[in-house]
Amino acid sequence: MQTLWFYRNPRVAGNHAGPTIEFRNRTLTRAFKLFFLFVLLNLGGCVHTIPVMVGNTPIRIIQEKHQDHGKTIVHLHENETTALAAARTYVRQDGGTLLTLQHGGTRNIVFYLNQVRYEVDPNRIFTDKGIKQSLKQFGPYSPEAHAAVKSLAKRILALIPPGKVIAVHNNRDYSMKEYFPHHPMARDVKALHYLASSNYRNFYFVTNSREYRRLKALDFNVALQSPHAEDDGSLSYYLGERDYVNIEAAYGELKAQLRMIYHA
Ligand SMILES: [Zn+2]
Repeated sequence: MQTLWFYRNPRVAGNHAGPTIEFRNRTLTRAFKLFFLFVLLNLGGCVHTIPVMVGNTPIRIIQEKHQDHGKTIVHLHENETTALAAARTYVRQDGGTLLTLQHGGTRNIVFYLNQVRYEVDPNRIFTDKGIKQSLKQFGPYSPEAHAAVKSLAKRILALIPPGKVIAVHNNRDYSMKEYFPHHPMARDVKALHYLASSNYRNFYFVTNSREYRRLKALDFNVALQSPHAEDDGSLSYYLGERDYVNIEAAYGELKAQLRMIYHA
């Protein structure tokens, strides 16, 4: 049987006989404790919670980091639980950083400011035009509400490191079909690659043609954002000039979405 190194360590054992059984047990216990701590740290990674108040609603930006390298994944719609599960599984297995929002489990953020109720889509808050449109879409608008939402957007953006950004979403009403010729959002895309008889809810939405060609070569459904896409305040519009990959998948398509994150 191989002897453990600390059993032979001369600084411990001296020139005499080996350490006592008691010492060995203590050292082993310490080694096991360190090992389990290491395993726990690896499983939990490093989780930071950044609290931000939007009106009277506390928002928690959760930053879960596993190792210093790896992909940056952003999850903005709290109710899109398959996307969150896929992103979490990915960063825990392969490393990377996940940013997600917590504010009560809903897609939109609802808040009160001076007794007025406001509602906004957290994926429409990255430009002034987007904030205004989104607030007006769901209720009233005011400059104060605008400022509150904008400060949340700034906090989220400050946590996104340089390099490629991967956003994850789940869709029910929206799908790749919106971008098909003669469909409502056809103008927002420059190119489309759709595999006949595939699930049109599972697709990549990318902002640069290099990514488009790469994902197309891997035979995934992929849409390339047009440089003339409308300013809707979404993260894909805001990061239009950067390396950005949006992964859309149907609810429950965990395996497919995980595979798409892997190839993003
Ligand atoms: Zn979404």
